[in-house]
Formats: sequence, C-alpha cells, structure tokens
Amino acid sequence: MGVRRVALVTGASRGIGRAIALRLAQDGALVGVNYRQNAAAAEAVTTAIEESGGQAFLVPGDVSDAGQARAAVAKAIEVGGRLDVLVNNAGIIRDTLLLRMADDDWDAVLNTNLRGAYLCTQAALRGMLRQRWGRIVNIASIAGLVGNAGQANYSAAKAGLIGFTKSVAREAASRNVTVNAVAPGLIETDITTGMPPKAREAMIAQIPMQRMGTPEEVAEVVAFLVSDRASYITGAVIQIDGGLAM
Ligand code: NAP
Repeated sequence: MGVRRVALVTGASRGIGRAIALRLAQDGALVGVNYRQNAAAAEAVTTAIEESGGQAFLVPGDVSDAGQARAAVAKAIEVGGRLDVLVNNAGIIRDTLLLRMADDDWDAVLNTNLRGAYLCTQAALRGMLRQRWGRIVNIASIAGLVGNAGQANYSAAKAGLIGFTKSVAREAASRNVTVNAVAPGLIETDITTGMPPKAREAMIAQIPMQRMGTPEEVAEVVAFLVSDRASYITGAVIQIDGGLAM
C-alpha cells in the first residue's frame, strides 16, 4: 500500500470527468470534484463516491477564469494537504463552420479547453515538483490530432493542449512528475447525445469498432496513467477511439 493520493478532476460533475472521479476514488484517492455550475450533479458524484466507501470533496470554479482556477487548485491543496494528481478534463464545444464562427465561439472554447488547463496546471505544478511526485493528465481529443469540420475552435484547443502536454512533460520529467494526454474519439456523454442523430450515425459508421466508447473506458486509461504502474510514461498521447483515428 502506498500513500493516499489527492486528486483534482476538473469538470467532474458529468460525463468523462465524473467517470474519472469515481474511478480514481475506487483506487483510493481523495478526489476533488470540480464543476462550473451544476452543483447538484457534482454533489451526486461526491455522494456516489462516499457511498461506495471512497472520499471526495466539492471544488466549484470556472477553470477559464484565472482567479477561480487558482482558487480551485488552492482549495484541493488545502483540503487534501497536498495535490498529487490533476486531470484537466473540463471542456465545452461550440461547433460551427469557420465562416460562421463568432469570436465568442472561438474564445469560449479556447478559454475553457486550453487556458483552463494552463491555469490549473501552473497552480498545481509547483507542489508536485517540490514533492518529487505528480501526475497530470490532459483530456484532449482525436479532433486535436486529425481535425474535424465544424470544430476549428475545438480542434485548435485540443491540438494546443497536446503541445502544452509535451512541453510541460519536458519541464517536469526530472522531478518524477509525468504529464500525459488522452485523445478520446466518440464517447457517450452529454456532448455527443446533443449531436444531430444523422451526424452521430455517420461518425459511428466510420469507427472500426462500430460503437461509441463509454466514459468508463476513458477513466480506465486515466487511472493507469496516474498510477505508479505508469511511472515511465510522459509526454504521451494515448488514443481511446475504437480505431477511429489510426
Ligand atoms: P460533458 O458531459 O459536457 O461535461 C463537461 C464537464 O465540464 C461538466 O462537468 C461541466 O461542468 C464541466 N465544465 C465545462 N466548462 C467548465 C469550466 N469552464 N470550468 C469548470 N468546469 C467546466 O463533457 P464530456 O463529454 O464528459 O467531456 C469531457 C472532456 O472530454 C472534455 O474536455 C471534452 O472535450 C473531452 N472529450 C469528449 C469526447 C466525447 O465524445 N464526449 C471526445 C473527446 C474528448 P457543469 O456540469 O457545471 O456544466
């Protein structure tokens, strides 16, 4: 048995972040459940963790806002006494073709999906470097690897997140702090159930495994990356996409 890890998962009230929070708690971590506005859903996550014998606490805060992002990380450190694991998962979409894209569609997606990760990582990294152990996992997307029509903002943010991952991985590696990204394909969450049915069907038809992935299938890879079992993996981008973007 090792020490109990303290983890912060951004955007953990729903979808992939929720599954990651539950999975890390199952491995014994004390988990900070961050959310932006859906307090009831976030509370349901901490309750579910506690009911299954784990430990969790709520961390409200909009990660795209510098003050709130830094306060969220500070709260996790305050409650947990340290921070070992940061999962930058909070993300939004504002899909539209480039010629129709409003400045606000661009800014909102870049601010949450990329700036949010920058702000949280910067706030979390110092303590990890000092304690000579840390794990950061960024939830990117295959859209950041191969692009997607209608997602110029989202793809740019996710490609940026991959570059960010590799640079910070280089900065932190010698202190035993690993920084990795996962690139999910089509996963069953509020983001994808909101897609037009035709677009969904067309995408599923292109997936070699012929189905969408589950949030739990993403959480399983994240749980591995933040564990001691992944001690020699840093700067990696692991696709979780049923073969979609190979
Ligand atoms: P989701 O079901 O829509 O959940 C999004 C989560 O992010 C919610 O918990 C939401 O909190 C939170 N959030 C949004 N903006 C935030 C902000 N500014 N500050 C803090 N929290 C914020 O999304 P999902 O499908 O699970 O996606 C999670 C991540 O996986 C995203 O980064 C997404 O880009 C990535 N991803 C998803 C897919 C997919 O197919 N679903 C594929 C590839 C990558 P509230 O509940 O308070 O709104």
